[in-house]
Amino acid sequence: MERKILLNPGPATTTDTVKMAQVVPDICPREEAFGAVMREVAADLLRVVHASPERFSCVLFCGSGTLNMDVCLNSLLPAGKKALIVNNGAYSSRAVAICRAYGLSHIDLRSSVEDVPDLKTVERTLAADPDIALVYTTHHETGTGVLNPIREIGALAHAHGAAFVVDTTSTYAMLPFSLEECNIDFCMASAQKGIQAMTGLSFIIGRTALIEASKDYPVRSYYCNLYQQYAYFKKTGQMQFTPPVQTIYAAKQALKEYFDEGEAAKAARHARTAAAIHRGLAALGLKEAIRPEIQSGLVVSVLYPDDARWNFDRVHDDCYAHGFTIYPGKMQEKGTFRLCALGAIDETDIEAFFRVLGEALAALGMETPKG
Ligand SMILES: *Cc1c(COP(=O)(O)O)cnc(C)c1O
Repeated sequence: MERKILLNPGPATTTDTVKMAQVVPDICPREEAFGAVMREVAADLLRVVHASPERFSCVLFCGSGTLNMDVCLNSLLPAGKKALIVNNGAYSSRAVAICRAYGLSHIDLRSSVEDVPDLKTVERTLAADPDIALVYTTHHETGTGVLNPIREIGALAHAHGAAFVVDTTSTYAMLPFSLEECNIDFCMASAQKGIQAMTGLSFIIGRTALIEASKDYPVRSYYCNLYQQYAYFKKTGQMQFTPPVQTIYAAKQALKEYFDEGEAAKAARHARTAAAIHRGLAALGLKEAIRPEIQSGLVVSVLYPDDARWNFDRVHDDCYAHGFTIYPGKMQEKGTFRLCALGAIDETDIEAFFRVLGEALAALGMETPKG
């Protein structure tokens, strides 16, 4: 199969073995054999974040990653309580939009998208409002590439008796972390990102005791309720509604490949890929939007060059024609595009990409410092 290099922030480049794992004999997902596949996938997903099956559960859903955000927010807030959204980027802003859509009582603690949140402000906000029962943030703001201090935010949440929910969609299975060490009660991701599988399967990993407690919270969505999906799976080994059957077979294969490659080796590959991105940008004289100390090492935001000849769409189309996909940025005032180190790619792919990018810039008549 023709190999395409996706430098967008997911879906990520997949291996052919993961693509082909979707081609399976037809099966009714209510069969016990399929239930066994889902149980195995759920157990493997817990292992990725070193979550003990005695204390944590993995709940599978059919949908994209935003569904996880929706489910956690609508299902985990007790009646009369408030959510605190620690918001320094587009994904936490989406969580705020979800709170608004459900009419959930919440505080939108906004700060600069170019920096990490200020912990003192988080602490003051928690101390001032005893109604906060849930603290929510994004581990890695995929829109900018900023990595947030979740362990510290989680410690503050727990010190004030709140549950800590983290959107780990763009770090899960890429940056090694352990739920308990990071003070995480709930995390989430979807199959098309870190595990390098297909779109359509999303999952939430959370403390079983808190999921059980949420049985008595208001049910704000019929289709997307965490406790109901959890309880149904526990009782029957099935999703409540039709699962993404073939996508789950692909996820099973992707998890096998994840454990075969190994957590540390995979993280090292992403780091190597990101280093090649930094090198390539510097060689072309392109500037990064986020200071290196707070970058995730997975997404690089590149400032549009200060040159009237720059044209993102033409550069995109040139790269795309050569099999490389680049993606616009998500920073309000600044023109940026993103290059990402996700997926089944390595530094040699990035080196090949920069040859194409250099030619695309030359085609616009833009000189590059070392060209
Ligand atoms: C990709 C991503 C999501 C999910 O986006 P979908 O388009 O719904 O798959 C959520 N949060 C973060 C941080 C992401 O990177």
